[in-house]
Amino acid sequence: MSDKTLRFDRLEPLREQVDAWRAGGDRIVLVPTMGALHSGHLALVAHAKAIGQRAIVSIFVNPTQFGPNEDFSRYPRDTETDLALLAQAGADAAWLPSVETMYPTGFSTRIEPGPAAEGLCGTVRPGHFSGVATVVTKLINQVRPDIALFGEKDFQQLQVIRSVVRDLDMAVTIEGVPTLREADGLALSSRNRYLGARERAIAPRLHAVLAEMAERLARGAEAAPLIAEGTTALEAAGFGPVQYLEVRDAQTLAPVVRAEREARVLVAAYLGATRLIDNVAVVPA
Ligand code: AMP
Repeated sequence: MSDKTLRFDRLEPLREQVDAWRAGGDRIVLVPTMGALHSGHLALVAHAKAIGQRAIVSIFVNPTQFGPNEDFSRYPRDTETDLALLAQAGADAAWLPSVETMYPTGFSTRIEPGPAAEGLCGTVRPGHFSGVATVVTKLINQVRPDIALFGEKDFQQLQVIRSVVRDLDMAVTIEGVPTLREADGLALSSRNRYLGARERAIAPRLHAVLAEMAERLARGAEAAPLIAEGTTALEAAGFGPVQYLEVRDAQTLAPVVRAEREARVLVAAYLGATRLIDNVAVVPA
């Protein structure tokens, strides 16, 4: 399988290949990523192969979604390993645009997503979701897939993209894929490789705290005291600062007092120098 993933650095040949696949009746599935691939990304590729004939994985560390003090320059980049993993996973094509290809001189358009981008990561990362919405729109317009897959790991991102695609009548179906976790509950993330041994031992507490909160919310508990308790538990475990710990409606992302319908508990917290995010579903009994 190792020679099967076609590699594209330029848009024109990628488009020709995709057009040929589409003309042959293949359903095209796009998986946008920033590389440093792990099993969570590969689960998206496996899902793409299960629901379509052609899985195209984009790898692009998008500068416009990083803030000035964030980790853009040190974000892990390992293209050769990524390509080997994609070949093993049976991806049909890797789309590797350069920053110049995505943002040539004169590039001047940005998409401003609506309420789904407010609060949570939208507050602590100003401009982040505008960068995400713009790059994802470009990737979808470049590849013109039938379906694009996004992980629930980045739950607010998934809802922002759903709203952009709906509002702009984009001819693509957006599908969310459940979060893949390590055996101890830690959500797989490219940033986990920043964690030292001590931090790695603490990191699973993030999911454990969310899971306990979700269980109590599902049984009718009020959100506010659980949020206070959860924040204290995270700080006691060694996290800090906790940027947010919130309970939101799963569809609208509006704040929730008590979970009367499906909700999500979402968190962003630093562990040493590493910022981790996670979320879990609340399904009322
Ligand atoms: P990233 O490379 O971090 O931009 O992620 C690319 C895609 O993979 C996004 O749609 C993420 O939500 C998704 N993803 C990242 N980690 C996981 C995971 N642990 N499980 C499922 N999907 C994930």
